[in-house]
Amino acid sequence: QAKVADKNCFRFYSRAMDQAVERRMHLEQELRGAWDRGELSLVYQPFYRLSDGALVGAETLLRWQHPEHGMIAPSVFIDVAEQSGLIETLGPQVLRAACHDAVRWRQVREGAEPLFVSVNVSARQLRNGDLPQVVADCLRDSGLAARQLHIELTETAVIGDEAHASRLLNQLRSSGVKVWLDDFGTGFSGLSHLRRVPVDGVKIDRSFVADILRDPDDLALTTAIIAMAHSLGITVVAEGVEKEGQHDILRDRGCDLAQGYWLGHPLPVEGFMDLLRPEPMPA
Ligand code: C2E
Ligand code: MG
Ligand code: MG
Ligand code: MG
Repeated sequence: QAKVADKNCFRFYSRAMDQAVERRMHLEQELRGAWDRGELSLVYQPFYRLSDGALVGAETLLRWQHPEHGMIAPSVFIDVAEQSGLIETLGPQVLRAACHDAVRWRQVREGAEPLFVSVNVSARQLRNGDLPQVVADCLRDSGLAARQLHIELTETAVIGDEAHASRLLNQLRSSGVKVWLDDFGTGFSGLSHLRRVPVDGVKIDRSFVADILRDPDDLALTTAIIAMAHSLGITVVAEGVEKEGQHDILRDRGCDLAQGYWLGHPLPVEGFMDLLRPEPMPA
């Protein structure tokens, strides 16, 4: 009896696995032409400076409007894009479009402090080696100033070949582009990376921010990250700020920038530009 059950169980799991593999392959096929069919788009989530509340920049996040499945989250398809190598064409397309959009922001904010745009770059794009060239081309073609472009890399992207990563990142940084370490604190050797990999900023992972009001350990870690980063001359950004209390405590602890649903959701470029327009004069 038990044997039969085991057998069925195995068959069930293996069929579920086949389906997962099949779905993935299907997704990869569809993702291949998605950019050209206009199904992929960019949304921008604002960054605010905690000392004075100023809007200072935005992160570029990719969205896939699938004709049948609706909106697909990047947590599903970025992984497919990375595993299949598609990210090597998709990544530069995102970078190029983001630079062109960011140039338009200047037009609605004449005279104001220029905003920066940050773009997520995956491990594979870094490993491939042509990132500095791709970035240089995008900046030249769009006319965006290098200091207005930030690159976000996860800790895992720099693990492994740190010498290679450092070389590329220094090349980018010497051109004026800023490099941030994303989801900081989730990798188990985050601190040691800061010694070996040259970065301008760290984004404290939202799992720390989430419990900052309830868990004294998370608050202690966050405060320590801020102090340590500042002593190294590194900017600290908090992601995933969903509550006013989180915002206030991060500001009081000296965190530089913050991002999250309480401050602003990701928006299509037109909606984001509405945030930049000066308030109309009351009639
Ligand atoms: P990430 O770079 O850490 O981006 C932050 C994610 O958190 C975004 O999810 C954002 O919408 C979400 N988020 C922002 N504020 C809040 C908040 O207050 N609460 C909560 N719960 N979530 C918040 P999204 O857009 O689904 O992106 C997920 C991940 O996909 C990104 O994580 C990034 O690693 C990756 N990704 C997105 N776009 C791109 C891209 O163009 N290229 C690459 N390589 N990766 C991308
Ligand atoms: Mg990011
Ligand atoms: Mg992040
Ligand atoms: Mg994150």
